[in-house]
Amino acid sequence: MKINFEGIVGQKQAVEKLKRTLKNNQISHAYLFEGEKGLGKKDIALKLALVLNCTGDDRKPCNKCNSCIKMAGGNHPDVKIIEKDGIIRIDEIRRIAGEMQLKPYEGRYKVYIICDADRMNIESQNALLKTLEEPPSYAVLILLTTRGDSLLPTVISRCQVIKLYPENPEVIKYYLIENKKIDEGQAHMLAAFSGGIAGRAVELLDNPDFYYRREKIIEICNKLLTSSLFGVLEQIVFFEEQRPHIEEILGLMINWYRDLLIYSETKNADFITNIDKKEEIDFQAAKIDPVKIRDIIFIIEKSKSDLKSNVQFHLNMEVMLLNLREVLSDGNSGRSEI
Ligand SMILES: [Zn+2]
Repeated sequence: MKINFEGIVGQKQAVEKLKRTLKNNQISHAYLFEGEKGLGKKDIALKLALVLNCTGDDRKPCNKCNSCIKMAGGNHPDVKIIEKDGIIRIDEIRRIAGEMQLKPYEGRYKVYIICDADRMNIESQNALLKTLEEPPSYAVLILLTTRGDSLLPTVISRCQVIKLYPENPEVIKYYLIENKKIDEGQAHMLAAFSGGIAGRAVELLDNPDFYYRREKIIEICNKLLTSSLFGVLEQIVFFEEQRPHIEEILGLMINWYRDLLIYSETKNADFITNIDKKEEIDFQAAKIDPVKIRDIIFIIEKSKSDLKSNVQFHLNMEVMLLNLREVLSDGNSGRSEI
């Protein structure tokens, strides 16, 4: 019997663990998938539900049987996904527990996938415990969460816990090249920015705001080298306009200067994030002493941490730009302080 979890990006350890339990017929009545948003918890849960109910003989999923066809259409009567915006209340859990007592309509297993299981309040979790204590033989409950610590230890101890971790960016890069048909440079850049989270990389790929912000930041870093003081201070407009995304913006800026630093010190483009902007990196890196780049990163990090303090936003950005310009112009004295 071949079991296939095709379509899942990476997560080898988790997938192998699940495959083993399926092969050995040690299917648990309750699973807890824990990991950051974008790692594929729901995809893996759906794949598990697909394999559990597939009636194929030599490979699962066979993609041909009645169950596989219904799963592909998203309308398998024995696989339910619970996805709530707010708190998952006790009524909802009681309804699920009641439904679970009824045998599956056509599948072998009745699978309930509870997304954001940490949205269950204590009452709901206690209600769920009763189901976990005496589950019907055909029931499989899959809880998904980004924060396992917000579930009761008694709930966790009744689940088989499967942890998902960020992937090596290389895995994400090749996934993007093969499945999203983009070139290597763009895939490398997105994989690096994704922090090893496939879902985040895909989100960035289709997010025009991300590209716009990155272009603007690279332009501003260029202006810091070439513009007049007035030209530099004019850039505050952009920071004001992007205020809701300021952490991301400053993150992009830090990332850019890290690239310049790595490139200046190694001359190796393999380690840089913005590989699709190599010409601009070459240009800017040649103009700045690496020692100064460290100061620059420090200044931006300071402004980033000041966002959380009482420092006025406009003043914070102004001081940052003035300090950056100060470091980048030849003189290296008279840094502004808030
Ligand atoms: Zn099948």
